Amino acid sequence: MSQPADLIDFHAAPAARHRTVAVRIGEGQGAVMVGGDAPIVVQSMTNTDTADVESTVAQIAALARAGSEIVRITVDRDEAAAAVPRIKDRLLGMGVTTPLVGDFHYIGHKLLAEHPACARALDKYRINPGNVGFKDKKDRQFAAIVEQAIEHGKAVRIGANWGSLDQELLTGLMDRNSKSARPLDARAVTREALVCSALWSAERAEEIGLPRDRIILSAKVSAVQDLIAVYKMLAARSDHALHLGLTEAGMGSKGIVASSAAMGILLQEGIGDTIRVSLTPEPGGDRTLEVTVAQELLQTMGFRTFVPQVAACPGCGRTTSTVFQELARDIQGYLRDEMPGWKARYPGVETLNVAVMGCIVNGPGESKHADIGISLPGTGEAPAAPVFIDGKKAMTLRGAGIANEFKLIVTDYIEKRFGGA
Ligand code: SF4
Repeated sequence: MSQPADLIDFHAAPAARHRTVAVRIGEGQGAVMVGGDAPIVVQSMTNTDTADVESTVAQIAALARAGSEIVRITVDRDEAAAAVPRIKDRLLGMGVTTPLVGDFHYIGHKLLAEHPACARALDKYRINPGNVGFKDKKDRQFAAIVEQAIEHGKAVRIGANWGSLDQELLTGLMDRNSKSARPLDARAVTREALVCSALWSAERAEEIGLPRDRIILSAKVSAVQDLIAVYKMLAARSDHALHLGLTEAGMGSKGIVASSAAMGILLQEGIGDTIRVSLTPEPGGDRTLEVTVAQELLQTMGFRTFVPQVAACPGCGRTTSTVFQELARDIQGYLRDEMPGWKARYPGVETLNVAVMGCIVNGPGESKHADIGISLPGTGEAPAAPVFIDGKKAMTLRGAGIANEFKLIVTDYIEKRFGGA
């Protein structure tokens, strides 16, 4: 009989964080650090017309409530720039101090110069070096935005993008590549151009006088392998804080999987100081989903804790009713909805683990591993649901009110365990 192989001690752990210079975004209570030793920050972007103050304020407040630590808004024209200080004031009046980033393309230099209240109200400016201006205007207009940031004491994200890559730079690199003894393929040259666009722009911003601790870099692409390659190059060649995100990730599961695959690999390698999940929402869909996904990505990889986790089995032929699916969904939603209030009242509650399981096969075992778990009856089992608290069977629930009773038990557990801190 063959012998078992020697046990191998694998320690799966993320690589040490790539060392970056920390950047402070915002002021006072809502200020957030990005890079250095700071936790990886979750950010999001609105999709309202910024000139529409009501809907923009409502969406920023919803994103902040969902856990977005920085929110970016489009500033594309005079009306939008004029609305920014009103949006900021309204948010502060509501107690929302989340830093705001202005997303500028083409005319950022003009909007910031002509709307000083907007320049002051924003906490960070995002510049796309690919469309800040063309030919001789490019350097001048880029410098004008950087000078505004220096004057108002703001941070800047230099955000290169595959879809709006600086064409002069790309053409120049393509020409050089074609004359090289060992030319690279076009994709490799495009990756290099994207990285150079971000790095050279950052160098230029520093020459103008913007300190490194006010610069964040990004180089977003829409293909997973390109994103991984580009960010590895950026991390190897700079110590700027890095904003990570797969651009145009897409809708629904496609966008979630692509973003998680790309960012998960980079985060595991210690690359990335702030993340945004760029999901295309369903028409009328909830914009805060991108915040939930970003938080879940960081929490599931063990980088941060935001909300209690619910482990639920996938169900199988042993669960023919939908009771356990409904309970898993209700509990997950309940915990997430209550978190904004619980965070202050119950410090540490985000570390709670709950299990909702479908039958006796893995139900009791998994429930015992959680802080609090329930094992619902599978097909053919007695209609009873044992509840396990801190690894021990505490009670058995029966009847139609199992879901509500379990919610009360969870709330009671939270109050007892985290309420006294
Ligand atoms: S715990 Fe039971 S219901 Fe859930 S997947 Fe396993 S066998 Fe199926």
